[in-house]
Amino acid sequence: MAKSSVRPNQVTDRRPRFEAQRTVSFTESVIREMTRLAQIHTAVNLAQGFPDFPAPADLKEAACRAINDDQNQYSITWGAKNFRQAIAAKYRQWHGLELDPEREITVCCGATEGMIATLLAVTNPGDEVIVFEPYYENYHPDTLLCGATRRIVSLQAPDWTFDPAELRQAFNARTKAIIINSPNNPTGKVFGREELELIASLCEEHDCLAITDEIYEHILFDGATHIPPITLANMRHRSVLINSMSKTYSVTGWRVGWVIASPDLSASIRKVHDFLTVGAATPLQQAGVHALSLPESYYAHLSTDYVQRRDAIVDILKRTGFKPFVPRGAYYVMADISAFGFPNDQAFAAHLVENIGVAAVPGSSFFENAALGSQLIRFCFCKKFETLHAAEEKLSRLAK
Ligand code: GLN
Repeated sequence: MAKSSVRPNQVTDRRPRFEAQRTVSFTESVIREMTRLAQIHTAVNLAQGFPDFPAPADLKEAACRAINDDQNQYSITWGAKNFRQAIAAKYRQWHGLELDPEREITVCCGATEGMIATLLAVTNPGDEVIVFEPYYENYHPDTLLCGATRRIVSLQAPDWTFDPAELRQAFNARTKAIIINSPNNPTGKVFGREELELIASLCEEHDCLAITDEIYEHILFDGATHIPPITLANMRHRSVLINSMSKTYSVTGWRVGWVIASPDLSASIRKVHDFLTVGAATPLQQAGVHALSLPESYYAHLSTDYVQRRDAIVDILKRTGFKPFVPRGAYYVMADISAFGFPNDQAFAAHLVENIGVAAVPGSSFFENAALGSQLIRFCFCKKFETLHAAEEKLSRLAK
């Protein structure tokens, strides 16, 4: 099968006539492309991380109510006041963090906008941004669009630990920020207190920022706990915390997220956000007020529900010849594919979606050096049990 079939929309050998220099060196999202391929081949989609089960009924009702109540015009560009207040209340309750909703919270169109708006607001061309690898693919174009250079620190399987010396070496006078995504996509790593304290001390020593993508904060397994780096000593004014409604409330298509940072940082981020998108959808922010006031039992249920799906996919992958790395958080599993004897992850993913009927994300999408991901593939498990079982039926046709 042609390798190109995994990336049908990539034009690799001819630069489009009007394309700007800043976009030349990155390609379309492989994750989102795999979703399109899943549709073309009517494959079970375990590629892009979005639930295929309904969002909570009361949230949907809250959104409909807001629309019917004529809350359909722009909110304040940095977010509806009552939504920012609800965000502040949730962080006080969960993390003892006192936030000024007027000056420290910016609502944006998903964590995706939060990240690019932040990077555009804080980096200059030539600045360096440290990224743990494997990493969520957006961080690559995000840094490129800013003219920033990525400095990679490896997370090593099977536990996805990093070498403190390698981390220390990644910091230098050009370092502007480090991106921390915990619980982590794609590995499921949950950064521990000791690791975060080391990162915090290096941020202080080198006077740089921690930009933390915490969208899987409430999807934790096996007793893992989430520590927002902004709550660590001396990090309150050098952290930018990014989160969203997408994963916690199973509404990835709503595109409602937020950025928390001290007033001076927030002022810079708000300027970018304002001109990028004006603001997130008003009625969905109103539904967010309801979401963020849900009782603790909602979150406990989310994790216990997801741990069952995690255990199901891990067992399915083991039974069908993969070597999965068991995640401690988020809703993805990285799996080793070397037992199948394919030359690389792209060829394997193409075979999987076209001939077997399951879409997954080739591991190389999460690495700078494709070779490092060439025997890895990522499955997501935010799916109905029947979807996971349908995937098993198809995966069991794989020849080992
Ligand atoms: N975060 C999800 C994933 O990694 C969805 C990515 C996206 O398409 N925005 O699959």
